[in-house]
Amino acid sequence: MESKHKPGPEAASARETHGFQAEVRELLKLMIHSLYSHREIFLRELISNASDACDRLRFAAIADGALLAESSELGIRVDADPAAGTLTITDNGIGMTREEAIANLGTIARSGTAEFFRSLSGDEQKASQLIGQFGVGFYSAFIVAERVEVRTRKAGAPPEAGVRWESGADGEFTVETLTQPQRGTAVTLHLKADAREFADPMRVRGLIRRYSDHIGFAVRMRKEGEASLEYEVVNQAKALWTLPRTQISDEEYRQFYQYLAHDFTDPLAWSHNKVEGKREYTSLLYLPARAPFDLWQREAARGLKLYVRRVFIMDDAEQFLPLYLRFVKGVVDSSDLPLNVSRELLQQDPEVEAIRSGLTRRVLDLLARLAKDEAEKYATFWKEFGAVLKEGLAQDPANHAGLLPLLRFASTHASDNNPSVSLGDYLARMKSGQERIYYVLAESYEAARGSPAIERLKERGIEVLLLAERIDEWVMGQLETYEGKRFKDASRGDLELGGLASDADRKQHDAELRESKGLLKRIKDALGERLTEVRVSERLRESPACLVLGEHDLPERMRRVLAAAGQKTPQARPVLEVNVGHPLVRYLEGVADATQFAELAQLLYEQAVLAEGASLDNAPEYVQRLNRLLVRLAVPPGAAP
Ligand code: ADP
Ligand code: MG
Repeated sequence: MESKHKPGPEAASARETHGFQAEVRELLKLMIHSLYSHREIFLRELISNASDACDRLRFAAIADGALLAESSELGIRVDADPAAGTLTITDNGIGMTREEAIANLGTIARSGTAEFFRSLSGDEQKASQLIGQFGVGFYSAFIVAERVEVRTRKAGAPPEAGVRWESGADGEFTVETLTQPQRGTAVTLHLKADAREFADPMRVRGLIRRYSDHIGFAVRMRKEGEASLEYEVVNQAKALWTLPRTQISDEEYRQFYQYLAHDFTDPLAWSHNKVEGKREYTSLLYLPARAPFDLWQREAARGLKLYVRRVFIMDDAEQFLPLYLRFVKGVVDSSDLPLNVSRELLQQDPEVEAIRSGLTRRVLDLLARLAKDEAEKYATFWKEFGAVLKEGLAQDPANHAGLLPLLRFASTHASDNNPSVSLGDYLARMKSGQERIYYVLAESYEAARGSPAIERLKERGIEVLLLAERIDEWVMGQLETYEGKRFKDASRGDLELGGLASDADRKQHDAELRESKGLLKRIKDALGERLTEVRVSERLRESPACLVLGEHDLPERMRRVLAAAGQKTPQARPVLEVNVGHPLVRYLEGVADATQFAELAQLLYEQAVLAEGASLDNAPEYVQRLNRLLVRLAVPPGAAP
């Protein structure tokens, strides 16, 4: 942040002008120019900040009761002045020092914001959608205000240490120190001409009831009627999760989610529970309908809002859920943790560990219920968060039983690249005699679907799960069985057809083996040490050849990923499987000329590499080889070239 006027020694109270951080400027621009719907969410954001400020003071006062000296009843006041066209949100919470006001109301601390804004570049439609996911916060005031004025004083600071902050969203803001009789913060919006509706007390009351009914503090407004100076509470001011489920409507649950998650959209589902007995805690957990922009950022904030006996303790308490459930939003309110619990303490507390495993089960149950009763919503969930949930297979072996039925796959038996098949669906379609759950991994859905390794399986109507996400390679390595059936990578080792292969099949295979021994040896000799073996394939139908890895070999595409990351691993030596019924292979058998044979064998191998979706070490050579062959076909022998 640049500061135009450096504060001189005498200038503690002088007015300073600062430029907003570049990201803030970007955000303000978007807010002003592309957020037309949901304009009213600014009020929810400002009341949310006021409520946070009260929460934080109440928490600080546990250690230092004197902070509450001026007034011990924490609350929020909203004044709408239609004549002046202003709306003011006042709290008597923690307040800000001058430095805090500059930092908090001039920058965005959240990591990854710069990248986020870059990703929005230009697309206003997309921007207005994504900005909701971003959680717009304080700056949303500028959706409706042409000028915003903040007066604040930090709890515990003397009245002279008040601060006035002001901005017209033109890229700059000013701060000055002044006397501020009350503790806490007042945010005044000077409304734009087209946003005067937000100076109408009736309209504002309605919005508070709708968006801020169930925050933990009273929101007061002037009583209706001419020039009344008395205030009355306009919201329920009871934290939603503390109420019995029967007293809460779905609409209230949804509103509370939007408040909690700063999200425009409704949640997909929620789970509200009170645990009593030896251990007591309440939780309210939500599944969002959309992935946040920073789902894949390592340092992104995640976790639940933690309360202890209804006192807010911290945001983003990540110890209460495993990493693979990081998309869950919600609140946990414990009766047993100490009020002075810190993040460090949370990490070791056995109580926290117990709550965490309880909440993990709740989320998995909620997902199972959604999958069973509301398949469409579950499909949305899977699309947004399926890849995250899969991480659980590696992170949480203890919950495999709960996780496996939640997985969804693309498959040879589903119509398109739509991960809709569950393992239960797969089992129900297994052929008699089938002992394995077949899957294939590739770079893309298309490459998986077209993989030569599964041609025979497809021909016989045996279902194959098609996996193409980066994480799948690793995920599938964690899986052993489902309902007693082993998982089997169709492109490795033996196909393990078991009871699927008939006596006739076996006989035919044996015959092919006997008849092609000589051919296989010639191919192996031509291709040399890069292969462990050349053998007759049970997998192929249309393709002449394919590569097969051993059960524990590293696939070539993984080796390349590792190599790119600087990790050197030796190339695996695959098996080349040959479709002896294929005309090209038949033709090869009849080629007597050694050079020509070697060239064709080499082509066969290179095609097998390409069919896997891998790339060739020497593509130009391959092209030349192929062209030589084509020329031989196209130009009759003896004709001039
Ligand atoms: P967030 O609430 O997610 O942190 P905001 O943009 O809403 O982001 O607010 C930015 C910061 O400004 C807050 O984290 C807080 O430090 C400060 N702030 C905003 N409003 C208030 C307030 N009413 N009282 C005290 N601090 C506030
Ligand atoms: Mg906020």
